[in-house]
Amino acid sequence: MLKEVLKEIGQRQRFLLTSHARPDGDAIGSALACSQILRLMGKDAEVVLRDGVPRIYHPLPFADTVITAERVNGKYEAAIILECDSIQRTRLDGLEDRFLISIDHHVSGRPFAHVNWIDPKAVATAELVYKLAREAGVKISAEIATCIYTAVLTDTGSFMFEGTNELTFALARELVLAGADPAHCARNVYFGHSTAKMRLLGAALSNLHREGSLAWIWVTREQMEQVGAKEEDCEGLVNYALSIHDVEVAAFFRELPDGRFRVSLRSKGQLNVSAIAEQFGGGGHQCASGCAVEGPLSIAVARVVAQLRSHPSVQ
Ligand code: 5GP
Repeated sequence: MLKEVLKEIGQRQRFLLTSHARPDGDAIGSALACSQILRLMGKDAEVVLRDGVPRIYHPLPFADTVITAERVNGKYEAAIILECDSIQRTRLDGLEDRFLISIDHHVSGRPFAHVNWIDPKAVATAELVYKLAREAGVKISAEIATCIYTAVLTDTGSFMFEGTNELTFALARELVLAGADPAHCARNVYFGHSTAKMRLLGAALSNLHREGSLAWIWVTREQMEQVGAKEEDCEGLVNYALSIHDVEVAAFFRELPDGRFRVSLRSKGQLNVSAIAEQFGGGGHQCASGCAVEGPLSIAVARVVAQLRSHPSVQ
C-alpha cells in the first residue's frame, strides 16, 4: 500500500494535509512531518486543521504554518488524511469531492479514502510517515525527526503503552541520530502545561470514583469555565486515574457544550478499550480510545461503566 500511496503522490503537485479535530501529538507531528517530506519531494503542501495546534506542540518546527479552518477551499489535487477513520473525524468541510489518501494506524481504522494505508502494527501514524520518507528517498532532517519523535513519544504514552517494542526504540534511535533531541521534545510536551490545566486536574481528581479495578473522573463545563481551561487542557488527565496502583481501566468524562460527554478510556493492557469505545460510535487503540455519549453525567457514566464492568478483567 505504501507504494500505491507514493505512486498517487508522484502523479500530483498540490497537497492538503489534515488530521482529526482536537489534534494530539501524533496528529500534529504526522501532519507537520509529512508536509515537510512532501516539500522535499518538490510538492506543494499545506496543513489545515479544524482545531488549532495545542500549546504544548507550538514549539514543533513549522507549527506556526498550520492553517486553522472549518472548510477546505484551495485547489488541492489530493488530501492526505492522517490518523482518521472517516472524513467526519477531521470535522472539515470541503473534502468530500477530492482525491483522498488515508494513512492511519488505529486498530479501529476503516478504509474510506481512494487509497487507504492502515497499519495497526505501527505505534503511531508518524511511524508510517517515516516509512514513506524512507521509501521516497527523502533524507530525514532534524525538523522532520523532531516532529516524528514527538508523535511517537506521545502516542506510545512515553514508550509505556502495549505495542511499544524493540522496533519502536530502533525508530527512536534513527530519529535521534537524525537530530531529534529527546530531552527537548519531552520538556515541551510534559513541562509545557498551562496553570489552568493544573487547576482543572485538581477539579477532576476531586471527582475521582473507584470501583474494583475501575477508576473514573470527570469535569463539567462549569468547572472548566471556573479555572479558565480550554478543551486541550483535558488531554492526558485520564492518565492520573490510570496511574493508581490496582486500577486496570480508567475513564475521563468531559462535558461538551451540547450536553453530551466526551469520554477518554485508558487500559493497562488487559481490556481492549477500543472495542468499548466502538460500541458508542468511537474508536482508538487497545489501551487508549475515545467516544462521545449522551448526558446527563450520571447516565453517561452509568452506560460506560456498565460496559467496562461487564469485562472479566475489571471485576
Ligand atoms: P483521547 O482519549 O485522547 O481523545 O483519544 C484516545 C485515542 O482514541 C486516540 O488515538 C484517538 O484518535 C481515539 N479516539 C478518540 N475519540 C475518538 C472517536 O470519537 N472516534 C474514533 N474513531 N477514535 C477516537
